[in-house]
Amino acid sequence: MSKVTEYLQSIMTKIEEKNSGESEYLQAIHEFIPTITPFLEKNPAYMEQNILEILLEPERIIQFRVPWQDDQGNWKVNRGFRVQYNSAIGPYKGGLRFHPTVSASVVKFLGFEQIFKNSLTGLPIGGGKGGSDFDPKGKSDNEVMRFCQSFMTELQKYIGPDMDVPAGDIGVGGREIGYLFGAYKRLNGYHTGVLTGKPLSYWGSLVRTEATGYGLVYFVKHLLADQKDSFSGKKVIVSGSGNVAIYAIEKVHELGGKVYTCSDSSGYVYDPDGIDVALLKELKEVKRARLSEYPSARPKATYYAGESVWTSTESYEIALPCATQNEITSELAQNLVTQGVKVVAEGANMPSTLAAVHVYQEHGIQYGPGKAANAGGVAVSALEMAQNSQRLPWTFEQVDQELDKIMATIFETCRDTAKEYAVPGDLLSGANIAGFAKVTQAMISQGLV
Ligand code: GLU
Repeated sequence: MSKVTEYLQSIMTKIEEKNSGESEYLQAIHEFIPTITPFLEKNPAYMEQNILEILLEPERIIQFRVPWQDDQGNWKVNRGFRVQYNSAIGPYKGGLRFHPTVSASVVKFLGFEQIFKNSLTGLPIGGGKGGSDFDPKGKSDNEVMRFCQSFMTELQKYIGPDMDVPAGDIGVGGREIGYLFGAYKRLNGYHTGVLTGKPLSYWGSLVRTEATGYGLVYFVKHLLADQKDSFSGKKVIVSGSGNVAIYAIEKVHELGGKVYTCSDSSGYVYDPDGIDVALLKELKEVKRARLSEYPSARPKATYYAGESVWTSTESYEIALPCATQNEITSELAQNLVTQGVKVVAEGANMPSTLAAVHVYQEHGIQYGPGKAANAGGVAVSALEMAQNSQRLPWTFEQVDQELDKIMATIFETCRDTAKEYAVPGDLLSGANIAGFAKVTQAMISQGLV
């Protein structure tokens, strides 16, 4: 066994002991650690300095009580989190997720991924993530407002425009960001940069809403262009029906491909004419309705209740998982192979299990991991911070072009790094090595802090 392999195994064992039972977090670490082997082989000084073990330890984890009152006057409580994972290259940056599955393990895995994602954008942002096990689904606007105010009463102690800048994620959209921002402003004054994803009337950025979905499709556009191919005429399968999925579908259609599916936690829609984006926006953004209502406006479409979109028996060329972690198991990945899928690019964070990733690799499916492919959201968040500091809003075209350029650079960085470290075509290793190299160089130059 090589010295590097031995070192990596000893770190993995320690991490497993210290974080036992935290399955999502350990999965993210298991996916990451082996991929940096070629980097450490080539740069043994990084191993001698033990920088990996230091990087793996979050700089700070904050957990707090969030008491709130429902519309009937009942007292309720949820758990709030913020993981400030790494600030070597900039203030902590990353979303807040409100979903019943949120736990220490989930925010830690998301925070860990965020470090490398943010590094790949080329912008000065460190890695963080947070959220709560609060479920905004089925709650009134007033209940969501009271919850957000209580959440921010505690979180505001730890964030600031040059310290930690949260944004949205699953369950946290424009409505929640508005309430969180209002609560922060009341307590601290008008710090425009303290959250991103803000509404346009108070220093939000154009394209932020579309950014993760558009960025995902730009990433795949550059990957296809590298092989002299394009989206034109491509059949695409998408999961999810939130912000990421909606704008990914919109952009695929704009570039000449067709998306046939979308999903929510209760089932999926197959529309033989291609998903009607205007209808999807009306259902999800305006009515906050379930996807099961889609076929009543599009009679040719079918809603498959209780089924995963990844069981679809149609054929597709590109898969864009945009729902949530671990939605694609190895069995479902096998189904993608059967469907004829050649490219999988992740709009969600860690939607493929490790076994699913192995299936992609064995069958030569090109795989764009979330930390590269979905970095467009946080990239435009950083552009929102830049606009806030300048006190100047940029035009839609300006932000959109910048986003496209950033996604091209991310793709090229992953491709070229993979080539440099003798794993050509392995964009996962490329993303991990490039992110790790940049962040650890910054850490080493700042000394043992
Ligand atoms: N939650 C998004 C992500 O997973 C965006 C984070 C941000 O804009 O700070 O990257």
